[in-house]
Amino acid sequence: MDFDLTADEHAFRDEVCAFLTAELTEAVWRTERDPDEQGQWRREFTKAFRRKLGAAGYIGMGWPAAYGGGGKSRVYQTIFAEEMEYHRAPGLDRSITYVPNALLAFGTDAQKAEFLPRIARGELSWFVGYSEPEAGSDLANLKARAVPDGSDFVVTGQKAFSSEAHMAEYCWLAARTGPVSPKHRGISMFIVDMQSPGIRIDRYPTLAGWTHHAVYFDAVRVPDAHLVGEIDRGWSVIMGAIDFERAALAAPGLVAFQLDRLLAHAREQGRLDDPVLGDQLARLATEAEGARLMSYWIASLHAHGEMPQFETSMAVLCKRETARLFDAAGLEMLGAFAPLRAGSPGACFDGDIEAEYRDHLYFQFAAGGFDITRNVIAHRGLGLPR
Ligand SMILES: Cc1cc2nc3c(=O)[nH]c(=O)nc-3n(C[C@H](O)[C@H](O)[C@H](O)COP(=O)(O)OP(=O)(O)OC[C@H]3O[C@@H](n4cnc5c(N)ncnc54)[C@H](O)[C@@H]3O)c2cc1C
Repeated sequence: MDFDLTADEHAFRDEVCAFLTAELTEAVWRTERDPDEQGQWRREFTKAFRRKLGAAGYIGMGWPAAYGGGGKSRVYQTIFAEEMEYHRAPGLDRSITYVPNALLAFGTDAQKAEFLPRIARGELSWFVGYSEPEAGSDLANLKARAVPDGSDFVVTGQKAFSSEAHMAEYCWLAARTGPVSPKHRGISMFIVDMQSPGIRIDRYPTLAGWTHHAVYFDAVRVPDAHLVGEIDRGWSVIMGAIDFERAALAAPGLVAFQLDRLLAHAREQGRLDDPVLGDQLARLATEAEGARLMSYWIASLHAHGEMPQFETSMAVLCKRETARLFDAAGLEMLGAFAPLRAGSPGACFDGDIEAEYRDHLYFQFAAGGFDITRNVIAHRGLGLPR
């Protein structure tokens, strides 16, 4: 079996790598990261950068050309995502990964024509409105309601953990349209224009040092035309969309970056000959390669027209657990120097290792935590009882 990319795919990787290296200069890193948000990319820069990605043709490479896509295999999207993560570039999020993939799979022709070309041009940011204060792992418990009224639905409720809602033009929203029992029925999916009257966004700080959001909908009108899939049958749309989400989150560029960073540090410190460290780095390198292969396995299933399910949970679990191993190894290697911030004498990597250790805690919860993901693999993959 040949695991290598084709010559054309290698050339594409080189092209994306050159593009990102040229764009994300040291000066850009210095000026466009927000120190008040733990060095996250600034909002306006992220939006402008996404438009550049669109202009370069990098968004939606695997979608049909009719909807502004590149008409190529999904493997190109994975290569692009891997390079974006490796370069820690801004803009690789739900707006250009799983929301458009879910729209392609479940949207009407009119919805695809309305949104996909704009997404491909990098013009739109999205937030995903699934979670609520009492609906996280048990998502079907959601309470936000959408009530039909003429040719609209009227949405009222609260969403929690609303990543980047403050910069979103649209929300991919789950709301209850039918009876509460059985609770997986009676849920529908909507596209909500964030400029609609009745939407309020709250901010709150996180342990990672950046701001998160909660969104309140007070009698927000959503046209019928923005219902995705059938009324009361949104659960299957959500499940399909979550598989796309996990596939996107499994992109392996982060762990490749973490490996190269630790290797460079060990080399700089003259510690590459240290047998204990060498053994640890070799184990991590093996894990990173495993995560990379899992991600490309998912890409190749998509490229062959399949809809991987539990496989996406395996890939995302493998990537995120590997990233956590790197986080811990980084702290251990840097020892007492790990918590030092940029500019302090002895500081390494702008204090990123410690910041990422806190940041990546969310890997254990978001998009189905480690426990939930294992449950999916056990139930759907291995056929074990619930
Ligand atoms: C940084 C971050 C960003 C997020 N972004 C978004 C977003 O943009 N949009 C959105 O809709 N949501 C978002 N979420 C929400 C995320 O999907 C939820 O955190 C997740 O679904 C878990 O829900 P919960 O936090 O309420 O934890 P709970 O559901 O209360 O779970 C608590 C713990 O119990 C475990 N647990 C729960 N049920 C079971 C079970 N049946 N078996 C075994 N273990 C179980 C969980 O794994 C977890 O460890 C985000 C979360 C974070 C942390």
